[in-house]
Amino acid sequence: MSDCLFCKILDGEIPADVIYENDTVLAFRDINPQAPTHVLIIPRQHVGTINDIEAEHEMMVGRLFSAAKAIAAEEGLSEKGYRVVMNCGEGAGQSVFHIHLHLLGGRGFDWPPG
Ligand code: AMP
Repeated sequence: MSDCLFCKILDGEIPADVIYENDTVLAFRDINPQAPTHVLIIPRQHVGTINDIEAEHEMMVGRLFSAAKAIAAEEGLSEKGYRVVMNCGEGAGQSVFHIHLHLLGGRGFDWPPG
């Protein structure tokens, strides 16, 4: 998608602080962190929102979570705990329409979320 911010990061057109990648996903630090650790985990394949996820994407979605687990371990968060969030739609706060997990850690989190 030529007008997608995260596709531009994947293509190297926009720089990012990449900390993890494999053939399916890329992960980089959020430009406006909401916690001491705030990493975005995105698929290389463009999918706009959770509403666009089809059966063919199920393996890819699973690999987003496998990346979250690996990054949490690298960041020293596995034992203390961390939060993984995917916003769907503007009403839930989604601002970039290329699905992504937010991995947040290094502080406490309230429930229910705001
Ligand atoms: P969401 O609002 O759930 O769609 O999350 C989008 C996230 O992308 C926000 O947390 C932004 O701070 C983050 N973001 C926007 N532009 C960039 C960028 N160029 N590099 C890293 N993170 C970004």
